[in-house]
Amino acid sequence: MANGVRAADSSEAMNEEHVTALWSAFKEGKPVICSRDDNQMAVAVDGAMGLYRLICVGCGHSTPWFEAKMRGVRIRGMSSRPPPGSIRGG
Ligand SMILES: [Zn+2]
Repeated sequence: MANGVRAADSSEAMNEEHVTALWSAFKEGKPVICSRDDNQMAVAVDGAMGLYRLICVGCGHSTPWFEAKMRGVRIRGMSSRPPPGSIRGG
């Protein structure tokens, strides 16, 4: 079956190994499915930082921000904490 992959429900499970698997599937054109509400996850890009994350179109559940490498990914920040530069002061 050409099913997609399911993203972990908890942010604790969003380690680099898991995010690498999700990102690899996404690049292959497979759907990445949110475990919370079965919606599909789309990619979000921080162009300034060169970071990516996968975010559910339904509930907003997302992976941490990560940097896409030739092999795998490098996590740069947790989803609950935006990367530096995305918050503007006063
Ligand atoms: Zn969701």
